[in-house]
Amino acid sequence: MLFSEVLVSQHVKDMLINTVKNKRVSHAQLFLCQAGMPGLALALAYCQYISCPDRTGTDACGKCASCIKFDNLVHADMHFVFPNEKNASGKSNIPAYLGQWRELLKEKKGLITQYQWAEYIKAGKSLAIYERDIMDLINVLQSKPYESEYRFVIIWLPELMNETAANKLLKTLEEPDGKTLIILVSENTDNILPTILSRTQMLKINKLPTEDFVSVVSKLINCDSGQARIIGYITDFNLQQALEMGVNVVDVENYEYFVSMMRSAYALYHMQAHKVDFKGVEDWLKSMEELEKAACVNYLKYSLNMIRKCMIMNTDAASLIQLSPNEETFLKSFSPFVNLENGRQIMNVLDDAVKKLTVNNANVKMLFTDILLQIGKLLNKKGQ
Ligand SMILES: [Zn+2]
Repeated sequence: MLFSEVLVSQHVKDMLINTVKNKRVSHAQLFLCQAGMPGLALALAYCQYISCPDRTGTDACGKCASCIKFDNLVHADMHFVFPNEKNASGKSNIPAYLGQWRELLKEKKGLITQYQWAEYIKAGKSLAIYERDIMDLINVLQSKPYESEYRFVIIWLPELMNETAANKLLKTLEEPDGKTLIILVSENTDNILPTILSRTQMLKINKLPTEDFVSVVSKLINCDSGQARIIGYITDFNLQQALEMGVNVVDVENYEYFVSMMRSAYALYHMQAHKVDFKGVEDWLKSMEELEKAACVNYLKYSLNMIRKCMIMNTDAASLIQLSPNEETFLKSFSPFVNLENGRQIMNVLDDAVKKLTVNNANVKMLFTDILLQIGKLLNKKGQ
């Protein structure tokens, strides 16, 4: 990954380039990245830059042996730690997932989310970074770098590290080895031990300024600047969500759940008893309960995207969204009930539910009953 391919503001790249120029590369760094921004891509570009013998004042060369290995994510001195599924063997799952990790990172050019990763590896349980993953890393770090001056470690989403793992890592961060660079790429530092935070140098990667966002998005999804601005407003200038706008994922099961959810929500709120298919609502809640957690989260994300698409359908950017024929038919009749205001509020309800499920392990039936009632109320706000 070259710096020129990473969609963050130039001053952030310059700050990193200057650490190399001034020989002040901190051995433990934390990139705090707003969701939807390419912190992982930036960390990769930074490691590639440091390792490139032919780097210029602005970027790695992209052609030398080191750059080619970085580009394929196979450099022998580049190590990754990322959230994975619990297993009973006591051995780290990370080596088994490396192939998929490289595929997804390459496909998405380093701009991935926790949910995309969970979906990609078809995770059935919640993902975390375990003690065994950190023990493996510590073992690897005992040896000398193979090819580069440095050994590079990228720990993606350290907030998902359990406490034992975090304490193990702490020792490594405490006893710096001049030849190791550890970069933690985090979206939320609330769940990271303060002792870890205090041992890393933090770099904040904020959302792109509006004009940069508009220019990047209009180029990448091939739309005009007015349309890119609308997408920015609806996605809250979240780059990853904006780029997904034009992607059509055929998802029959989630589509059917979504239609039942919206119909039930609307009918329940209006107390149109004759229209409420109570058995349908019960069945829908039951299907939600039977889903694995990752699938439940995936469904909520799908619903978020559908609401966003509803909002865009009512604007000049409607031609940009891609829908399956079924989705298009449903959204044509449903989107008039969603405006910019209640759309945002519905998205907040769904986003909040994702958090409650992933962080608080909420009871699924209660959570989804609440979602139905809240969405019903918000759909009724249209036109008031
Ligand atoms: Zn190079």
